[in-house]
Amino acid sequence: MEKDKTIIIGGGPAGLTAAYELNKIGKKAIILEAGSQVGGISKTVNYEGNRFDIGGHRFFSKHVYVNEIWEHILGGDLLIRERMSRIHYNGHFFDYPLKPLNALKGLGLGKSVGVIGSYLHSSISPIRNPENFEDWVKNQFGEKLYEIFFKTYTEKVWGMPCHEISADWASQRIKNFSLKEAISNAFSLSGKNGNGAVITTLIEQFKYPRLGPGMMWEVCQKQLEDNGSPTLLNEKVTSIEHRNGKVKKINSLNKKGEKTTYTADHFISSMPLRELVLSLSPAPPNQVVEAARKLRYRDYLTVVLVLKQKEIFPDNWIYIHTPEVKLGRIQNYKNWSPEMVANPIHTTLGLEYFLWEKDEEWNWSDEKLIQLGIEECQKVGLIKKSDVVDATVVKMKKAYPVYDRNYSINVNVIRNYLGGFQNLQTIGRNGLHRYNNQDHSMMTGVFAARNTVGEKNDVWSVNTEAEYHESGENRISERLIPSKKY
Ligand SMILES: Cc1cc2nc3c(=O)[nH]c(=O)nc-3n(C[C@H](O)[C@H](O)[C@H](O)COP(=O)(O)OP(=O)(O)OC[C@H]3O[C@@H](n4cnc5c(N)ncnc54)[C@H](O)[C@@H]3O)c2cc1C
Repeated sequence: MEKDKTIIIGGGPAGLTAAYELNKIGKKAIILEAGSQVGGISKTVNYEGNRFDIGGHRFFSKHVYVNEIWEHILGGDLLIRERMSRIHYNGHFFDYPLKPLNALKGLGLGKSVGVIGSYLHSSISPIRNPENFEDWVKNQFGEKLYEIFFKTYTEKVWGMPCHEISADWASQRIKNFSLKEAISNAFSLSGKNGNGAVITTLIEQFKYPRLGPGMMWEVCQKQLEDNGSPTLLNEKVTSIEHRNGKVKKINSLNKKGEKTTYTADHFISSMPLRELVLSLSPAPPNQVVEAARKLRYRDYLTVVLVLKQKEIFPDNWIYIHTPEVKLGRIQNYKNWSPEMVANPIHTTLGLEYFLWEKDEEWNWSDEKLIQLGIEECQKVGLIKKSDVVDATVVKMKKAYPVYDRNYSINVNVIRNYLGGFQNLQTIGRNGLHRYNNQDHSMMTGVFAARNTVGEKNDVWSVNTEAEYHESGENRISERLIPSKKY
């Protein structure tokens, strides 16, 4: 390797953005990607010409610089989409964001009065210092609404009772939002809270690449390659050798099991934090290894159905809160971009299931999973089995870093230990064990790239309470607009 090169582990949004930023600074990088395509959790899968995401990926960011990067990479291929999503609960489709008459119709007068009453009760006597998701949501929305709208879906996503989920997740995910804001939004449709800040969960419009989120990262990969920063696919980093606080070399294995060793001056990793720690050689102190072993990840699979129907429902996605089915959410990819579907007379639906790798269903055959998907989708009244012309299953391990009660203690132990390295930085969603969207993952990549040329940005500060407490609409983005010309 020539002098001052950087190796980046992972070709997802964080890793590719780090390489993008390094290129801007005039530096080259090599990206090592374990998979056979780039994009990570934000990739687009192509099945017989039908494209779909792991979930549905809205491109929305309050950060000016992230928007600039997206525009720079894709320009005219970024569509502006209107959001439509609803919640299915016990036979009724609730508009989301809430619409007063629709909510009243779904709940009935008695339950609606009960919801308001329980909200008033929790406003007057809130649970002090809520530490778990259940208590946090009860404070913001009242017990009744928690039971109806939050409990079942959240427990499907996380696979654990709401009182075992850290309140951090709620405050990060539904921050600035309460029943009061929901009602005032329902009447004003402003999508802003009382302080004038945009409520992310209510965003009505977002950007979306013409051919799905993977298009962004495939074009980025190509641009980087043309500028001398290639992505090497099917290269899984297996060990990271270090001495005296410096990484000396890393080893990767390709699909044939052949080993390659790389040396560089800087190493930026977006592999999951647990794997990063367990790859270090020599191994870190026991306490750090133990903390890493305790980090957990929720896995995800999607059953994709191709249906001989031009249109099925108008939503981009529907949340399935109904407890009788395991199905958590349904994506309608055609409504994200018409080009996601190979044949215009067809519609493709992504039925999303949240699982642990150890769950029985994770190891079911594709046929059995497809059968489950079709049955459950029929049960909620959305499709007819006879309309299904093709189907497939895609699995994504470690889709969600789990925020259980002790996760932050474990992350802090690892963070302190990694802070002792001079040339190793960890970035991204699983890399920081933080529930980051693409924009936050990208920002950590920008920060890490800049740190290799002497800046002192804290990647751990991205998407934290500290960031949200900064004043002004753009907050941290102001600092991200290139301040220096390199
Ligand atoms: C269901 C779902 C819906 C989502 N919806 C949205 C949305 O609407 N909008 C949004 O902005 N974000 C969304 N996200 C979040 C978004 O997917 C992530 O923020 C983003 O992909 C994280 O980027 P990353 O680069 O940090 O990690 P990843 O996307 O996980 O990429 C990491 C990469 O590193 C590679 N890797 C791992 N280990 C190794 C190794 N040992 N050696 C080499 N390579 C390795 C992986 O193969 C992967 O390609 C969603 C996520 C999920 C699960």
